[in-house]
Amino acid sequence: MLKKFLYTLWILILVVVVYFSLKNGTYTTFLRSMEDRTFDIRQSVLANSGNKKPSKDIVIVAIDDASYEYILDKYGEWPLPRDIYAKTVDYIELQNPKSIAFDLMFVKSIKSSAGADKALVDVFSKYNNVYTAMNLDDQPEDLRIPAKLPETLNIKIESKTNKVDFDYLEYSNCRTILDGILNTTSNIGMINVLRGDDGVLRKMPLFLKYQGKYYPQLGLKVAMDYLGLKDKKDFYVDKHANMYLTDNKKIHIDNDGSVILNWYGSSGTYQNIPLYKVLKASENNDKNAFDFQNKIVYFGATAASLFDIKTVPIDKVYPGVEVQATYVNNIIDGNLIHKIPSYANIIIGLALVILTVFIVLSIKSMPLALCTSMTAYFAYIMITYYLMKYSNLWIEIITPLSLALLAFIMTVIVKYLIKSRDFDQQYKLATTDGLTELYNHRYFQEQMQMAISHSKRYETVFSLIIIDIDFFKKFNDNFGHQSGDAVLRQVALTLKKNVRATDIVCRYGGEEMSIILPNAGNEEAVSIANKLCSLVASKKFKLSNGRESNVTISLGVSTYGEDGSTTEELISAADKRLYNAKENGRNRVN
Ligand code: GH3
Ligand code: MG
Ligand code: MG
Repeated sequence: MLKKFLYTLWILILVVVVYFSLKNGTYTTFLRSMEDRTFDIRQSVLANSGNKKPSKDIVIVAIDDASYEYILDKYGEWPLPRDIYAKTVDYIELQNPKSIAFDLMFVKSIKSSAGADKALVDVFSKYNNVYTAMNLDDQPEDLRIPAKLPETLNIKIESKTNKVDFDYLEYSNCRTILDGILNTTSNIGMINVLRGDDGVLRKMPLFLKYQGKYYPQLGLKVAMDYLGLKDKKDFYVDKHANMYLTDNKKIHIDNDGSVILNWYGSSGTYQNIPLYKVLKASENNDKNAFDFQNKIVYFGATAASLFDIKTVPIDKVYPGVEVQATYVNNIIDGNLIHKIPSYANIIIGLALVILTVFIVLSIKSMPLALCTSMTAYFAYIMITYYLMKYSNLWIEIITPLSLALLAFIMTVIVKYLIKSRDFDQQYKLATTDGLTELYNHRYFQEQMQMAISHSKRYETVFSLIIIDIDFFKKFNDNFGHQSGDAVLRQVALTLKKNVRATDIVCRYGGEEMSIILPNAGNEEAVSIANKLCSLVASKKFKLSNGRESNVTISLGVSTYGEDGSTTEELISAADKRLYNAKENGRNRVN
């Protein structure tokens, strides 16, 4: 258990080091755009499943292809003459809509007549629920002098957060609209949008900065009007980056001052009325053609030829006005996406790392560990999906899963290393003798069999030496068993050091040892045995109490072919010779 804990800690540290060393650079951009894709996929699935219903109180008056043609036919020009817009507003106002918003900019135009412009301006002074749009940009000053905007348009923000960069959405210039409108109404909002690096529109600003002041987006104004907060001009942002509309209605702001949109469905999800139908009904004074009562009526272009087309997570082609409607809808029903902070994603990632290490270390079978981990990762993806569905939360998939996968690979490597080390240890334990570290008797028997098979097949020879320490019983009696053990170890080491690497030195039993000498004939084996005999005799062995002593050994040699061709025959022959060596005075080879 402690071991597992230490491994987990070790892999955790390793994963964090690898992650942060990769974090800077293009790799991060790659991960972020992958994460954005997972967001798009989650949003597409949710939008197509009809997860959230769009507000019935939003109606889009669409300048679609048919309306565009109708206007060209009927008025001989585009855009629609501004007095016609004014008449249309008068017509809709008869039904008491909540508000009418133009996702269109009434810029100073040489085309339209002064009279038509005046009619439109009058509409803004007549009704206080008609909204129109403007946008900020960064055009150079030698192209267009930055205009001063009326004080009535800006808002004040008191911020307690350091999580939002309020200067990120600062612009140096603006595209103004008719002075008449600018000076008549404060119902003017910005319609700037934000696109990701991949061109996809996932976010919208809440307000923009221009000449040191903040200007709200059109959608925010329209939504606030709907919520009964029309006159609110002072905003408070708490330290968690929540902007309060009311005490209990707040909007979470992303670090660039924007909000992330939550999509309701592909294009056409809102009640859509082609402009030409409204124009016709207005001309015919048909008061009951539509139900605009208490609705937000959004005017905007949906015709592909009018170029107000965006790419959004759920659709490649999405009209700008429906983006605005989605923005308003998100604010009024509190469904904006809340992206959790990046440290939280890393914490989740580290939790997955711990889970992964435990799965891989606990499950013996590798395929099963792989399946279990993958199931856990899949479950995680499903959790992020449901949290987006039910809590509007964007919890990252890519960062946590890359951390987990990194941990998976590392744990597999660690597990493999532990396994192979364990195997080596087990093998050593099973084949060696603890006291002398020579091969044990069982290994000796195996190797004898192998040497015999090898010699049979390739018609070669090999020899066997059996060694017994002389008068060891007495030695033990004189110096004690511990000194006996020490000498036994040193004799074993002397033997091992003085034979070839391919020779196999074993402890045969007690104080008897054996050496298998592959490819050695009798003569060669006897010569090696003699060498070993004199080496041991000449050596001083250290005893347990610091004293030193000499011992001698007797050796018997047998050779495959000459003395037999089975283990038993060869051992018995070597044994007999060893006995003779003892008989003939010990410390010798026979
Ligand atoms: P010989 O010269 O005839 O071989 O006389 P010996 O005393 O060595 O006789 P024998 O081989 O019959 O006796 C083996 C002795 O070796 C018995 C035992 O005390 C000792 N011995 C066997 N294994 C060990 C061991 O692991 N450690 C120690 N200290 N002594 C051992
Ligand atoms: Mg013996
Ligand atoms: Mg002996």
